[in-house]
Amino acid sequence: MTDEATVAAEVETWFHEAWDPDLGLIAWRTRLLESGWAVPSWSPTWFGRGLPAWADRVAHTTIRRLGGVALPLGAGASLAAPTLYEHASDELNRRVLGPALTGAEEWCQLFSEPGAGSDLAGLKATAVLDGDTWIVNGQKVWNTSAHHADRAILVARTDWDAVKHAGLSYFVLDMRQPGVEVRPIRQMNEHSSFNEVFLTDARIPVADVVGEVGGGWRVARATLAHERSFAATRSLALPPAETGRTIAEARAEYEAYNATYEWYPQRQGRPDLLPARAEAAGRADDPVLRDEWMRLEAFRRAAGWTAERARVNRALGRPPGPEGSIGKLATSEVARRSHALHTTLAGANGMLTTGDDPVDAVVAEVLVSTPAQSIAGGTDEIQRNILGESMLGLPKEPAADRGVPYRDVGRG
Ligand SMILES: Cc1cc2nc3c(=O)[nH]c(=O)nc-3n(C[C@H](O)[C@H](O)[C@H](O)COP(=O)(O)OP(=O)(O)OC[C@H]3O[C@@H](n4cnc5c(N)ncnc54)[C@H](O)[C@@H]3O)c2cc1C
Repeated sequence: MTDEATVAAEVETWFHEAWDPDLGLIAWRTRLLESGWAVPSWSPTWFGRGLPAWADRVAHTTIRRLGGVALPLGAGASLAAPTLYEHASDELNRRVLGPALTGAEEWCQLFSEPGAGSDLAGLKATAVLDGDTWIVNGQKVWNTSAHHADRAILVARTDWDAVKHAGLSYFVLDMRQPGVEVRPIRQMNEHSSFNEVFLTDARIPVADVVGEVGGGWRVARATLAHERSFAATRSLALPPAETGRTIAEARAEYEAYNATYEWYPQRQGRPDLLPARAEAAGRADDPVLRDEWMRLEAFRRAAGWTAERARVNRALGRPPGPEGSIGKLATSEVARRSHALHTTLAGANGMLTTGDDPVDAVVAEVLVSTPAQSIAGGTDEIQRNILGESMLGLPKEPAADRGVPYRDVGRG
């Protein structure tokens, strides 16, 4: 039986032989893929070693601890790759998995539409088969990083006569083609991390369907499950302060990535800033404030333990429980409580986006970014519906679109 210490020791031995600071980032990650330490929980055919799920974390943290670089952040390695590994054909995976894991190609997620976010299965973008090519028309929205993506994971309706969920298929879309128009959206926090994407006769070869035609909902659910676990573990740490071409390129990659995501810590409410803010405001002894603050801290720690239990369950190969939805709700609650405390402490200064105190600008960004926490990756209300229906056994919501061809309900 392999244990964490043995895996860490094996990774360390391999790393000392393989690491070359001047190799360049993509060449280094190609070497990592070939070694099986990129995703050791995957099969040896696909960059793995058939080890338990926890081995991925052990390998990545060991590589980072030794001053190296593991997989890229972003939708390619965290959402597309694990979904395709589980559901795509070998032929498709041979073309796209490697570049997704090395970061040679960037990915985005084209799921949401103006009328289909929470009700994702109600989407209307349509793919029609023409010979050996699917022709796609429709509009997607809120697509993070679509403005520099090479490829997308896309869900589109392929059968309007099937019932709602059965008419969907899951595709890999080449973003660099004339039928794809990406328009950035300006957010209220002044950042622009997501986009509208207009698809006008965009083309997808038949070989780039993931899973069965009409089986897209099952594949999309796999992506959403990966999205929730990724949201809980996303780390924006800078690459180590080593020198050499590989690290320099990793740093440039990180900075480009962070240009899209730099407000994400603020969307979680920045509770870490509260102690210094309370001191600066001379209110660290205020009993009412301290009471609220301790409530927040107790909640945050309890949520951390729930996330830890979920991680251990996953590592033991147990089926996912309610922790994903509970963790998502807890993160929203921490963001909201932290937002309220920042507002109390900052007063009118919380509206300053520039000025002498750079922290004021961060607080201002917190105040307009936290609402996103309760929306992205499934809203709070939807998490409560999931918990109510699947964990508490409450009756399903009434729906007029069950059991009838989507053509009869979906248009208009
Ligand atoms: C930071 C961020 C990044 C994102 N990145 C991407 C991306 O890369 N790709 C992508 O495809 N999408 C992305 N999204 C979109 C996201 O998935 C949707 O915003 C989300 O699913 C909610 O959908 P919606 O915005 O259409 O809201 P709606 O579904 O219209 O919901 C509006 C309100 O109604 C409530 N509501 C809806 N249905 C119910 C119900 N049945 N019961 C109770 N209340 C309900 C909701 O909780 C919400 O409060 C991103 C969103 C954010 C905030």
